[in-house]
Amino acid sequence: MRDEASKFIPLDVVEKLGSGDGSASEDRSPPVLDEGPRATTSMQYRRAPLTSPARQFEVLEEPDISVGPSGTGNFRMDLAEHGWEAFTPAELEIFQINLGKLCNMTCRHCHVDSGPDRTEENMDRQTVELCLEAIERSGAHTVDLTGGAPELNPNFEYLVDACVEKGLHVIDRCNLTVLLTGPHKHLPEWFAERGVEVVCSLPHYRKLGTDAQRGKGTYDKSIKAIRRLNEAGYGQGDPQRKLTLVTNPVGAFLAGNQASLEQEWKDALKRNHGVTFDALLALNNMPMSRYLEWLMEKGQVEAYLERLVNAFNPGTIAGVMCRNTLSVSWDGYLYDCDFNQQLEMHMAWDGEVERPHLRDFDLATWKQHEIRTHRHCYGCTAGAGSGCGGAIEK
Ligand code: SF4
Ligand code: SF4
Repeated sequence: MRDEASKFIPLDVVEKLGSGDGSASEDRSPPVLDEGPRATTSMQYRRAPLTSPARQFEVLEEPDISVGPSGTGNFRMDLAEHGWEAFTPAELEIFQINLGKLCNMTCRHCHVDSGPDRTEENMDRQTVELCLEAIERSGAHTVDLTGGAPELNPNFEYLVDACVEKGLHVIDRCNLTVLLTGPHKHLPEWFAERGVEVVCSLPHYRKLGTDAQRGKGTYDKSIKAIRRLNEAGYGQGDPQRKLTLVTNPVGAFLAGNQASLEQEWKDALKRNHGVTFDALLALNNMPMSRYLEWLMEKGQVEAYLERLVNAFNPGTIAGVMCRNTLSVSWDGYLYDCDFNQQLEMHMAWDGEVERPHLRDFDLATWKQHEIRTHRHCYGCTAGAGSGCGGAIEK
């Protein structure tokens, strides 16, 4: 049986996504909870006003914020209050590539607005080659692959192999369910042979919270995928086969304490399903894209922003990911982070290049450039801090 997605996805893509044991795209039944975000369709498919970054900025700027270090709700002013008049990078360590917006899922909190309908935005081979050249010039030790579901890009395995050959550490940001789809079932062993670190999103170790956010049936598929990774040697303490899980709150609150959650998660998943993993990252939801849309529906935008600003932690500033990461979009443009990328906030380059591309990349210019910020940045500095590497203050 075809789901709603088949009305707007090319048939070959539907066949790929829905084959084998099934991905979340096979089941878009109404979600089970009224609280917390729920799986949805992409905003672009619905032609939702928030598809426009300009509209997202308007919504973020609307609330009058009088809390935080400067009492203005202005992120740059709050940085300045703590001595960061200039907000520039440290060392470039991570080259993060967003391979595209195509995904077999449509999670409610998705900051990329990914989904099965996003078939247009996928990195081509020429841009992959430009990435490989820029990686050489960057000196980064890690290549971090994200999406969408990066595994759905036809150049994914070529790119991983090229990076492994260069001796780089490769991270795959995986939604788990994609590993059960027909063309991707071999990936656990394939990753293991190459020492790829697999970082997988799972909102909660309980079924209800996970299915509410990511779609009915996601939890069972996720557990099955973790089991497949365990069988391939992942999640058992081998640094060459590292399995990391990522949790984010199912609701309008901040991420919990990462260290204490990790043990709770390990115990629960082992006890309930006999599966194991190596580390847990606890991330805040970013007030943007589909999560912002959900906050608006619930009348929670102001409250959530205030919560983030109130929890502003100056100890996290030095460690925010834009200071050690270069973010590249599917079409080869450069950004300070994947969040800025989705908000179309291009990197501020040397004044001559308005919209820097991989072809313009040069390490010295990157080191001097000013990082661009807006109110969504409070998601990175709230509480223990939050980024692709998890909590900033461990
Ligand atoms: S959050 Fe991840 S898995 Fe969910 S729709 Fe977005 S890219 Fe896909
Ligand atoms: S949202 Fe991006 S630019 Fe803003 S603080 Fe976080 S990582 Fe840096």
